[in-house]
Order: sequence, then structure tokens, then C-alpha cells
Amino acid sequence: MSERVHPVFSIVAPIYNEEGNIDLLYERISQVMDSTGESWELIMVNDGSRDRSSVLMDALADRDPRIKCIHFARNFGHQTAVTAGIDHALGDATILIDADLQDPPELILEMIERWRAGYQVVYAVREKREGESWFKEFSAKMFYRVMYRITDVDIPVDTGDFRLMDRSVVEVLQHMREHNRFIRGMTSWVGFKQTGVSYVRDARHSGETKYPLRKMIRFAMDGITSFSYFPLQIMLYVSGILGFLALLAIPIVAILRLFYGVDFFGGQATTIIVVLLMSAFQLFFMFFLGQYVARIYDETRNRPLYVVARREGFSPQQPVPLAAHARENMPDAIEAEIEGAAAGETV
Ligand code: UDP
Ligand code: MG
Repeated sequence: MSERVHPVFSIVAPIYNEEGNIDLLYERISQVMDSTGESWELIMVNDGSRDRSSVLMDALADRDPRIKCIHFARNFGHQTAVTAGIDHALGDATILIDADLQDPPELILEMIERWRAGYQVVYAVREKREGESWFKEFSAKMFYRVMYRITDVDIPVDTGDFRLMDRSVVEVLQHMREHNRFIRGMTSWVGFKQTGVSYVRDARHSGETKYPLRKMIRFAMDGITSFSYFPLQIMLYVSGILGFLALLAIPIVAILRLFYGVDFFGGQATTIIVVLLMSAFQLFFMFFLGQYVARIYDETRNRPLYVVARREGFSPQQPVPLAAHARENMPDAIEAEIEGAAAGETV
């Protein structure tokens, strides 16, 4: 087997309409990474941007051979963009960073120090957040604490995806092909020696957040369903409480009616209210059940996680890593077509 030609560090940045941040991101990252004196690559994943991001990315790749660009065929979402970067990363250590400069690249030096001291995962803990709405700050804080309580994996609170991962962790992640991904949880799940470094999360340099409330809720559901059965188990407790109330109510109502002539819980209104309440309970839990079922459906369809339209700056030897497990079940003809497309692409 030929030896893996690789940089020491891979940096992965997902990009969705970040035209105002790309040049500065490159500048700050190259300054920090050059100061380490080691080789590095910066993998930018264009998650279907509709602004000038792709042009700016390609221009950087033209200028600097350490810049590599992956252009998705459409918007696949933040976590999937990060996944594509991880799939392509060749470094001894890989660093995930947001493209909006909310994660200060200078912190990477501290992460590298911990990595050299023997830790396989060094995650960044947000001590403070600048320039974010109180709602975002509050909901994020609540979410991480609830997650911590209800999951079986210890996912550290107030950490995002900003982290350094050793090659050993990256290789495990490359084999985890689940569809609705919660990467910060997945890296915790892998294990090894992990530690945190704290930092103040800056305000976004340019543009607006790409996480409206709808996406935040979806992301939270992915995190919960990926790492916890708590919403399913809670049904048992609720059924216990309701059953107990019913058992209690039967003798009380009977005694009141027989001996005291009090017609408790009489009338249609009570019945209707109880029925509505129960329906609400049941539908609420069915929603959660549905969340798990929908995710099972996503897995069984076995689609690739993302579609790459084009890559810049990669060596032609580096294959497009389609979802590895999907490939195993693929008819030969389709596989040959994909291989052909990968070989013929512009690199
Ligand atoms: N992002 C992406 N695809 C998306 C949404 C976001 O690649 O569908 C990228 C975005 O360009 C940024 C990172 O993910 O680099 C984090 O997004 P954002 O800063 O909007 O999230 P926030 O920091 O507000 O939670
Ligand atoms: Mg951001």
C-alpha cells in the first residue's frame, strides 16, 4: 500500500451564504496555522450557497494549494456539510470551525497543545456568547442542560462543533453513516480521552444566522432522538400517573354519589374536556414516536448523505466518499456510473 501523503492538520469549515466572511476566515486561519510551523489544509464545504461564496472559495483554491473546496449539489444542512469535510480530511488532527468567525481561530493553538498532551478530542466550551439574542442564548443553555440529563452519552454542556479531533476519532466518524446527524454527540459517543478549553463566543462577523427557529428545533430533535430514549420512556410514567388517578377517582366518585348524593363529574362538559385532554396527551406522544419512526425510515432508504457537484483543489486520487454502506448494496451498473463520474470530474 502506498503511504498516505497528508498534512498534519485539516480544518473543516461549512459554508452557507458566507460571502462576507470567507476572505477573512482564510486570512485568520492561515495566520494561526502558519504559526504552528506544520502543514495544513483548509476544506471548505459549500452547502448550496446562493451568494458569491462559491466564486470566492474557488479563487482561494486557485491561489493557495492548501485550500480545498467541496461544492454540494444543493443545501444539505450544516451537519451534513461538516460530515463531507470530515470524510475528506487527511490530517493527523481535524478541526471543525464555523465560517462566520464566531469561533476564534486563535483558540486552535490551545487545542493543539492539549492534543499534543495526549487528548484525542478537544472541544471548545462557550463561556459567554456575544451578539446573540436572549432567546437564542436561553434556548441553547436549556437545550444543552436537558440533553445532558436525558442522554446516555455525556455530551458536555455549552459546546458546539468547534473542536479538534485526532485521526483515530475521525476514522470512526467516517464510518458512522447515520442520516440525522448530531456531530457533537457523535464525537462524545466515540470516547477516548476528551477535554475542553473555554472561550468567549464572538458575534458573527458578517451576515445573519442560518439557524432560524425551525432549523433549531429540528436540530434539537436530531440530538435527542440520536442519543436518548427518554421521550419514549416518559410515556410509561405518564400512563402510570393517569392510571393511578383513575383508580383513585373510581371509589371517590362512587362513594360521593351513593352515600352523599353528590353528582361529581356529572354532565357532558367534563367528559368532553377529559377526552380533549387525553387526545392532546396521546397526540403529543405520537409526535415523538413519529420522530423516531421517520428517522428509521431515513435509515432504511439508505440514500447517500450528500451529493457533491464539484470539487476544487483535491488530488484526483482522492475518491468522492459517497455513503460507504450505500455503495455495498448498489447494483454494479450504478456503481460504475458513479465511479465514472468521479473519475471524469474537474479537480
Ligand atoms: N451552515 C451550513 N448549512 C446550513 C446552515 C449553516 O453550512 O444549512 C454553516 C454556516 O455557513 C456557518 C455554520 O454552518 O458556517 C454555522 O451556522 P450559523 O452561524 O448560521 O449558526 P449559529 O452560529 O447562528 O448557530
Ligand atoms: Mg454562527
